Amino acid sequence: METRDRIHIDGEWVEPHGEERLELVDPRTGEVHATVRLADATDVDRAVAGARRVADHGPAWPVAARVAALRALHDRISERADLFADTMSAEMGSPAAFARQVQVGMPLATLATTADVLEGYAFDEPLGDSTIAREPIGVVAAITPWNFPLHQALAKVGAALAAGCPVVLKPAETTPLTAYLLVEAARDAGVPAGWLQLLPGRGSVLGSALAQHPDVDMVSFTGSTAVGRSIQRDAAGTIKRVALELGGKSPSVLLDDLDDEAFARAVRTSVGFGLMNTGQTCAAWTRLVVPEERYDDAVALASETARAFVPGENLGPLASEVQWDRVAGHLARAVEEGAEVVHGDPAPARPERGFHLGPVVLGRVTPEMAIGREEVFGPVVAIQTHGGDDDAVRLANATDYGLSAGVFGADPDRAFAVARRIRSGTVHVNGINGNKLAPFGGYKQSGLGREYGRFGLEEFLEIKSIQPPPRG
Ligand code: NAP
Ligand code: MG
Repeated sequence: METRDRIHIDGEWVEPHGEERLELVDPRTGEVHATVRLADATDVDRAVAGARRVADHGPAWPVAARVAALRALHDRISERADLFADTMSAEMGSPAAFARQVQVGMPLATLATTADVLEGYAFDEPLGDSTIAREPIGVVAAITPWNFPLHQALAKVGAALAAGCPVVLKPAETTPLTAYLLVEAARDAGVPAGWLQLLPGRGSVLGSALAQHPDVDMVSFTGSTAVGRSIQRDAAGTIKRVALELGGKSPSVLLDDLDDEAFARAVRTSVGFGLMNTGQTCAAWTRLVVPEERYDDAVALASETARAFVPGENLGPLASEVQWDRVAGHLARAVEEGAEVVHGDPAPARPERGFHLGPVVLGRVTPEMAIGREEVFGPVVAIQTHGGDDDAVRLANATDYGLSAGVFGADPDRAFAVARRIRSGTVHVNGINGNKLAPFGGYKQSGLGREYGRFGLEEFLEIKSIQPPPRG
């Protein structure tokens, strides 16, 4: 069984001050698969001090060397892709093929883009008679969730290092092993000492201490809206920058001009994206918004799509027992509030082994129901019906979230017009576009700030106006 009992500070693997050991559970079996010794608040001070030294006293890490290190990191991760994939399968349950293609493939694509963007980025820009200089914001605390352990960490670590910011990484307490592999790959890629610290442990202790810490200049967080709020409060005392990638209740809107074939394709794509990663995806399209007159078709097609997701085969378990209980709770409430069950078992019994739960499709969901507004983070898709474009837009916007959306329509201009009216950080029109140069992030309570590409890099930069002497 794997044991990790060191933390990473100043380029060294050191013994933590924290003494607690946490057993990690493989959600496929419910059995302990590894133990990790956790960092504590004293370790936060040590890690931040390490990062602070680098930020304040160099040595400088030039842009060209950062580009080279990010490219080398890409190569080191690629070489170990199977190890990363197997580790994530054990930590959070992704089936092997998904782990390899998405859990490893997606962050590699993002990292390659980050290196390209950095290579072509102009840090200085003339404006009138002034120079606008973009400079690293300083020490970054990256706090990440368990649903895409490598992707969420690398979206932050890659962009922060690209910007010239040393990082303290606090992964989800249930998925630290992937973060260990990431740090090992970064060391092998030539990321210099002090630029990447790793603190495994509890968010309530480490996350909060990082957010409050006077020597942390920025917190970049991905996770729940509730914790995002708490981080903003913790960060308020020192007015640090906070970037938040929070949850969603993202709609896929099908307009009434689709022919049968395009309608069927749109339902399959949408439900597939809703169930991806067992629904544990912040951007997942968990609401299918269809014309009232096509409700029956939508039910049949969505059920057929859901049936193809088989627990233990191509559908992984929920990542933890806590998550299983949460999802079961959401389902019970949905039924209580009058949602129709059109596919699956909304009152599942806890499996004997592991945390599997089959997909559920609910119909006749309204914005008044909790299931129409709240993020479930499980394999649950809710069907809603609209009476035309205005009503579809109203429904699409009828949650506190605004992370992602889809619009499908035969007339691309009309679909684009609907896309413009949806208040969300991403709207895909007629299919899912994986452009990693495009910014990703939330409107409303889905967050603050953007990740990926140029926008993701600029998250970690301060803006300085350097003014020449006044004329005359
Ligand atoms: P979470 O609590 O928001 O966890 C995300 C990260 O924040 C973890 O590293 C966590 O550490 C840390 N954290 C927890 N409490 C903190 C605090 N007070 N201050 C600073 N950091 C803190 O997410 P979760 O509990 O694992 O999942 C709960 C719900 O969040 C899910 O059901 C889902 O709706 C949503 N979620 C969204 C995303 C997303 O990508 N948007 C990802 C995951 C979860 P610990 O691991 O120690 O708790
Ligand atoms: Mg938590």
